[in-house]
Amino acid sequence: MAQLQSGCDPNLALNFAAGGWFLQVWLALTPGGIQSGAGMAFSKQEVDGFFAALKKLDPEPKTELNHSSPYTLLVAVVLSAQATDKGVNKATEALFKRADTPEKMVKLGEAGLSEHIKTIGLYKGKAKNVIALSQRLIDKHHGKVPQNREALEELPGVGRKSANVVLNVSFGEKTIAVDTHIFRVANRTGLAPGKDVRAVEDGLMRVVPDKYLLNAHHWLILHGRYTCTARAPKCPVCVVEKFCRFADKTQLAPLKAPKTPGKRVSRAKPPSK
Ligand code: SF4
Repeated sequence: MAQLQSGCDPNLALNFAAGGWFLQVWLALTPGGIQSGAGMAFSKQEVDGFFAALKKLDPEPKTELNHSSPYTLLVAVVLSAQATDKGVNKATEALFKRADTPEKMVKLGEAGLSEHIKTIGLYKGKAKNVIALSQRLIDKHHGKVPQNREALEELPGVGRKSANVVLNVSFGEKTIAVDTHIFRVANRTGLAPGKDVRAVEDGLMRVVPDKYLLNAHHWLILHGRYTCTARAPKCPVCVVEKFCRFADKTQLAPLKAPKTPGKRVSRAKPPSK
């Protein structure tokens, strides 16, 4: 991925990232790709059990991107492409005190915004997109974030994944934004295998019971981020282990046998004088 990023125009990489294409290119170039859980498809009862277990662990999951309005969420999501939520939150803490509306952002300008977000990867392209999308919101949407997929995806730097996050978190719509974590979890477990992000999204929308759809996106991201990690997933403590089809689940490391105690040789104390 590092090679791809360093070798291409940041704006091009941003546009790919926004639409999920960057993830697909990366997956295609990753040796072995993401391993898929083998075996039979989940039954309805198993899918129910899977999400019931994730819900029990975290009944009210939330996005980890700090925001106070649909607009600040949209900006945070655009900044989060190819960056960690933690890194984005660090940069937006001061930024949103200064500019938390499209009008204030446009006033801050590209150079001013760049100063706030220069710790985030691809910040120059992201600054350009955030200023352009803020201007578009002012010109076409009365300064408000539209609750409409088509209008969201027309905004610079906003693709299907970002639109899904905003529709879900800010407007309570039952959408699933497939990122690298969800893509891995859906394939590994066998819950909704798919060769690209759109196939996984469509598969999840088909199998996840309606009562879990609103939060499914958060549960799957958090599960992938903290338990079903890319390297060394924590299978021995995983709450959905019994449903998971992954063939290479990790095991608890065997306890090391204590070394056979040798004959203790006690040192003789020197004779006291
Ligand atoms: S059992 Fe392992 S591979 Fe399967 S979901 Fe849990 S952590 Fe991931």
